[in-house]
Amino acid sequence: MKKPRSARIETLAVHAGHSVDPATGAVAMPIQLSTTFERAADGSFPSGYTYSRTDNPNRKALEQAMATLEGGAAGAAFASGLAATMSVFHALSPADHVIVSSDVYHGTTKMLHHLYERWGLAMSFINFDEPDALAQALRTKTRLVWMETPSNPLLKIIDIAAVAQLTQQAGALLLCDNSWAPIVQRPLDLGCDLVMHSTTKYIGGHCDVTGGVLVAKTDDEFFAAIRTVQTEGGAVPSPFDCWLTLRGVRTLPCRMRAHSENALAIARFLSTHAKIDRVYYPGLDTHPAHEIAAKQMSAFSGMLSFEVHGGLDDAMAVAGRTKLFTRATSLGGTESLIEHRASIEGPATRTPQNLLRVSVGLEHADDLIADLEQALG
Ligand SMILES: *Cc1c(COP(=O)(O)O)cnc(C)c1O
Repeated sequence: MKKPRSARIETLAVHAGHSVDPATGAVAMPIQLSTTFERAADGSFPSGYTYSRTDNPNRKALEQAMATLEGGAAGAAFASGLAATMSVFHALSPADHVIVSSDVYHGTTKMLHHLYERWGLAMSFINFDEPDALAQALRTKTRLVWMETPSNPLLKIIDIAAVAQLTQQAGALLLCDNSWAPIVQRPLDLGCDLVMHSTTKYIGGHCDVTGGVLVAKTDDEFFAAIRTVQTEGGAVPSPFDCWLTLRGVRTLPCRMRAHSENALAIARFLSTHAKIDRVYYPGLDTHPAHEIAAKQMSAFSGMLSFEVHGGLDDAMAVAGRTKLFTRATSLGGTESLIEHRASIEGPATRTPQNLLRVSVGLEHADDLIADLEQALG
């Protein structure tokens, strides 16, 4: 007999963590607002739920769905991406050492400096572009390597499988912040132990819910420690937030395909435009790490940056003239956003002053290109 092929990602996204409500037959999952759950006469909890901070049906459904999509053993959902991040660092011990890619999300860097330096966590920020940087930074005390690829806002690419090999040899855990490339990049398949997402971005997908999620390859002691932080620290999302985020999951593979197609079309247009000095998009074969990106990503997601010929004022003027693109931070929603990165990152930024970052939405690519064309003048 032919073995049935396991379901494809689109099918999993629609069905993971989904069941028809046994009480009512409702096809869309009800939002379970109850904070507390009934005990049986013998004192047991027949539903498996006791109190909503500890566990809730909407959160469980989201956690199961994300574990399924990332190919992991277990998931944990949080009130924000940074609450997920904090739970990982909190599950470490103060004497541990962590290695972090130097251009991670600025909130991650700020958290490490403001909260965990004081706490005694040892940390090294390294540039993964330098071939020996990781090997030199690894110590016997290194417990965790934290990386983010593609990076923000320069869309640098880290070779996940190569990093996983070195990290594994050193006996450390490897985590990938996959917020920028859900579905199209599967870090656990490439050797990571943990995946983190700000679900505020592509997974929620509509700029209307803040959240975070962690998925572990194995449901081990370290993940149990993370869960302890989640439930005893109370870094949990509301049932409604879980419900909205899970609704986003249902369309995620289709949206990622459309975001990626639109972004590639825009990147190609921009790379031929006379007023553009440089385009950063891993889907372009002129990107310095395009080959690695093509090896580890099935599409290149919807984020890109470009440098406008001139300086700060020229870039600001282009952003100021767009009509379809909204000038706002964040990413991953249905609507396209444009942002001058250096000014939001503050005086310490190393981002070029003429750089604009774009979150390409789900509008028609030709309309977006026409808008950029008029904005570039
Ligand atoms: C937004 C973002 C975060 C932080 O997530 P929040 O939901 O804002 O707390 C972390 N990592 C990356 C890559 C992000 O884009």
